[in-house]
Amino acid sequence: SSKQSVTVIGLGPMGQAMVHALLGKGYSVTVWNRTPSRADALVARGAVLAKSAEDALTANELVIVSLTDYDAMYALLEPASHALAGRVLVNLSSDTPEKARAGARWVSEHGGIHLTGGVNSSPSGIGQPGSSTFYSGPHEVFEAHRPVLEVLTGTDYRGEDPGLAALMYQIVVGMFWTSVLGYWQAIALADANGLTASEVLPHATKLLTGMPGFLSFSAERIDAGEHGGDVERLAMGLASVEHVLHTNADAGVDTTLPTAVAALFRRGIAAGHGTDSASSLVKLMKTAKA
Ligand code: NDP
Repeated sequence: SSKQSVTVIGLGPMGQAMVHALLGKGYSVTVWNRTPSRADALVARGAVLAKSAEDALTANELVIVSLTDYDAMYALLEPASHALAGRVLVNLSSDTPEKARAGARWVSEHGGIHLTGGVNSSPSGIGQPGSSTFYSGPHEVFEAHRPVLEVLTGTDYRGEDPGLAALMYQIVVGMFWTSVLGYWQAIALADANGLTASEVLPHATKLLTGMPGFLSFSAERIDAGEHGGDVERLAMGLASVEHVLHTNADAGVDTTLPTAVAALFRRGIAAGHGTDSASSLVKLMKTAKA
């Protein structure tokens, strides 16, 4: 076919899902991975396993990288860095904005172009409607390759600065992990009291389904600098999170998370926000604790 041909480096769950999506749309795909056996099922479906990282880079102009972090990229590609010249490297590995900026400089020093990506999807969402990825880097280059990238997920271009996609990704994924940990804490507490995760599920679902209203109410007030205690007060919030902490402690489950939550609320009380909304914590959280 006349379809474009692309390289995918990194065949963890995410890279594998991406190769499947590309093959499914008729793209020719060259793959490379530190552990070659992870390519077996992809090769059986028509992907080409490169003989080396260098061959993987030279095979195609567009090189999609899906690794654990940027250090893994250097470990794999530093020995073949001369082959970066003329390549567009779309780095979908998670890392900090600073690591993304340094990675973009490194690729550019070797004559290539770097696009940063932050994938907001599980591997099962790759190639499915509704999933999306933050991108940043040279806009024209992003636009030129957008059709291939949209085989993977929808795209959300954040700007030229290579750190921007990583920044928005870390903002969202940080919230993902704390939300998920809140859920797992609830399940651990339930389990210690003879309840199953399935019994928690409808209540957890109800709580999170109600969140959009709270999020927009909260964003408007925070952006307007309003933290009045007319709806709830931080002092009430501290009493509430202490009850949660003690219930967990009494059940003998891990209290790392509720302890950290209570510590933040106490910091707010100490700063004199007891009669303000608990959202006043945002003002304190903007600076590292002294
Ligand atoms: P994994 O961490 O499972 O692995 C990705 C790849 O990194 C593997 O191919 C692995 O090689 C390679 N790798 C790691 N360290 C090195 C190294 N030092 N040298 C060479 N290769 C290395 O990641 P996923 O596939 O799950 O995800 C890829 C990226 O996507 C990550 O940055 C992740 O944060 C992000 N992401 C993942 C999601 C998910 O649900 N999986 C969701 C959203 C984003 P090998 O096979 O040889 O071990």
